[in-house]
Amino acid sequence: MKNFYNWTIEELKNYLITNGFKGFSGDQIFKWVYEQNIVDPEMMTNISKELRAFLKENVLFDYLEVNHQQVAKDGTKKFLFKLDDGHLIETVLMQYDYGNSVCVTSQVGCSMGCSFCASGIISKKRDLSVAELVNQVASIQHYTGEKVSHIVVMGTGEPFDNYDNVMDFIRIINYKHGFQIGARHISVSTCGIIPKIYEYAREVIKSNLAISLHAPNDEIRSKIMKINKVYPLPDLIKAVKDYTEISGRRVTFEYILLKGINDSVGHANELSDLIRGINAYVNLIPYNPVNEFGYKKTDMKNAHKFHEQLEKRGINATLRRELGSDIDAACGQLRLKKEVSE
Ligand code: SAH
Repeated sequence: MKNFYNWTIEELKNYLITNGFKGFSGDQIFKWVYEQNIVDPEMMTNISKELRAFLKENVLFDYLEVNHQQVAKDGTKKFLFKLDDGHLIETVLMQYDYGNSVCVTSQVGCSMGCSFCASGIISKKRDLSVAELVNQVASIQHYTGEKVSHIVVMGTGEPFDNYDNVMDFIRIINYKHGFQIGARHISVSTCGIIPKIYEYAREVIKSNLAISLHAPNDEIRSKIMKINKVYPLPDLIKAVKDYTEISGRRVTFEYILLKGINDSVGHANELSDLIRGINAYVNLIPYNPVNEFGYKKTDMKNAHKFHEQLEKRGINATLRRELGSDIDAACGQLRLKKEVSE
């Protein structure tokens, strides 16, 4: 059996044509599955009887298996999905006034080793397939009945360490007869894998890029993020500048405020100087404490002071609202408690 969720529209059309069917039926099937949440070929009434029978025989449309589900006070829903090989992954649905956003996981575990992030506690086991990426969104729509309008690839894993699958995923969710999620409603976050930033800059679909910066200088960044030893800050800043010029798009810098580490007025000044002139804005993130690590969250008063200092220095910044922290679904808290405790 072939897994439906692996196919971009071109691949599906090729598959149909190879098997003696019309390519345009691909669009019809995409609409049923991704727009209507219909996965039983019998119910796809505008395709031929022969094609329905063929799909039933040869193509798998199953949703991901829910192992566990939690709802936070603010309505954020976290799903623990069980993959075919038994691995568990987490996907989060966040409800905003502008729509429903899904935070997608890109790998089982993560090897980037950022010292503050809970996802790295379990080292990378494997990349997710295209089908597993797409099916997180399809399954969320199916189980909640909610229409998904925004995607952030900010769950467990480093998306640029699973680049080709993540890009096929974006092609599928962006397609006009699928989920139809606009490029500007899709964001990919990276800890800074420079060669992939250049590749991403040249992609046809201009989805958003977020860079996990988290430090105003090379020294602090090397202390808290292992990746900085491979791709140091000056090179990263140059790559981001180049990205904005090649793609014509604005970039987001994510900056976690860690008490006593990177959150002083002096750091705000340093950060302003570092990124001045780049078409970017800064998303300040209150740190979600992870028991094992010992980092502390900046108090809100200081977070506002840091924010004001950036603005004073002409840098656009926002202080992010936290969703789902009471169920460990907020940034950096996605982890498989069951596996960790074993
Ligand atoms: N690997 C990618 C995407 C996943 S992390 C990346 O590094 O960008 C998504 C965002 O959450 C990143 O900016 C990450 O640094 C941040 N994050 C990690 N741990 C966090 C924590 N405990 N509190 C707040 N944000 C955290």
